[in-house]
Amino acid sequence: MYDIDHYVAGRSIPGRSGRFGPVYDPARGIEQARVAMASAAEVDAAVGSAAEAFPGWRATALSRHAEVLFAFREILNARKGELAAVLTSEHGKVLNDALGEVSRGLENVDFACGIPHLLQGSFSEQVSNGVDVTTVRQPLGVCAGITPFNFPAMVPLWMLAGAIACGNTFVLKPSEKDPSASVLLARWFSEAGLPPGVLNVVHGDKEAVDRLLEHPQVKAISFVGSTPVARSIHQRATAGGKRVQALGGAKNHMVVLPDADLDLAADAAVSAAYGSAGERCMAISVVVPVGEIAQPLVDAIRRRLPAIRIGAGSDPAAEMGPLITAAHRDRVASYLDAARAEGATLVADGREVTVGGVTSNGSGFFLGVSLIDHVEPSMAVYRDEIFGPVLAVTRADSFAAAVDLINRNPWGNGCALFTRDGGAARRFQFEVECGMVGINVPIPVPVAWHSFGGWKDSLFGDLHIYGPEGIRFYTRAKVITSRWPDPATSRVDLGFPQNR
Ligand code: NAD
Repeated sequence: MYDIDHYVAGRSIPGRSGRFGPVYDPARGIEQARVAMASAAEVDAAVGSAAEAFPGWRATALSRHAEVLFAFREILNARKGELAAVLTSEHGKVLNDALGEVSRGLENVDFACGIPHLLQGSFSEQVSNGVDVTTVRQPLGVCAGITPFNFPAMVPLWMLAGAIACGNTFVLKPSEKDPSASVLLARWFSEAGLPPGVLNVVHGDKEAVDRLLEHPQVKAISFVGSTPVARSIHQRATAGGKRVQALGGAKNHMVVLPDADLDLAADAAVSAAYGSAGERCMAISVVVPVGEIAQPLVDAIRRRLPAIRIGAGSDPAAEMGPLITAAHRDRVASYLDAARAEGATLVADGREVTVGGVTSNGSGFFLGVSLIDHVEPSMAVYRDEIFGPVLAVTRADSFAAAVDLINRNPWGNGCALFTRDGGAARRFQFEVECGMVGINVPIPVPVAWHSFGGWKDSLFGDLHIYGPEGIRFYTRAKVITSRWPDPATSRVDLGFPQNR
């Protein structure tokens, strides 16, 4: 057992609220640490530290910002194995997947290293006689980030890299379920030369988040998590005058047209549905085969399932680890009986899995992979975000019916089409109401120099996260109109200013 402390003003700060939360080792099903839960006063201390650090960091040369990011990038790259091991230990994902997560986070740091270029403003010379106009982008001040359990390193890096590079200071409230990665990132930023107070980490739950939402010195909130919380955070923080991007949950569909390569589509569906035990906001949770490919596709997916190796994330042979908590595992499993009761067909039942001789109800929070066919949009297994290794199949009669299904779904994070028909692909990407679309790519997470974000109930706010939209989110524009007149020609003129 160990304690996980806050990190404020460049120092580890033990919690003083007297409240702690359990941090499990999901592969063994035991509590391995306890995390301090911040009180409002502890959040205030972190925001105070960020506010104090802001004027100095804002005034620091851009080239220095880039230098710190480069140094941090080197540290992160050199120690990615250490970070991945922490992710595996607290989240449960397999080491290889954890390393992939770190690499995608690293890309955001790579992008932010180009901050001097990204913050270049614009200039118009001689817009009127002797008048020039310049637009610059300036940081907002103290920004806060609230992150989910499923990407304990990558999602914080989506926010931190851009926010800090732009000259803001930051308070991060990571998921209380796997909080150690955030503290490690903050320590490594300090080691890279980030001044104390520029990045602070406070742990906690709703109490800490509520204080961040109402704190007058917090200018912007980036949130990633489930839809109900995202919606509420967006409403409350915008009402308080803050800038907000709140990314929510998802139900990602993968449409397979009859002309698609069957094996390629089946491989993609299995990888995208069960990777990271389905605990990815871009996981495929519904496959939509169109027409006669339905039965062959279901058979091809089913044939691949027994080969998936489930085990502790630290086992190099394992391809899929446990779920985050016992409660989440049981909630996911509850959808299987519910689906059968509603008339769907349980093609594969993940509750029957054994890991190291123990069934999925044994010590770790394991659940095997499930495949459910003949799922209708009215069923709970379709309506809810399950966030586990459960793949639903909703058959469609036509391309138009498949697109209509996606467009009627309240979420719009990602979706994919598998086909060899370029015309169908063009029509799909034009018509579908989703923020991120894959054509023969099942998990279309944009690279770091594009931005990430869904539509509809998957994102509340106007700007997507990271990439160019991230830079816009963490800065505000200022337009300077200047003239250096010759004092000899100066006179009083009460007329409306003219361009001449
Ligand atoms: P969650 O909404 O339960 O928690 C997210 C964060 O909000 C955590 O830091 C948590 O402490 C805090 N929180 C929880 N309840 C709160 C409340 N009532 N008031 C204030 N703060 C609260 O999400 P999770 O279970 O950690 O993560 C899984 C969810 O995140 C899924 O819905 C998944 O789709 C979503 N997600 C979305 C994206 C995306 O980019 N759209 C990325 C990753 C995860």
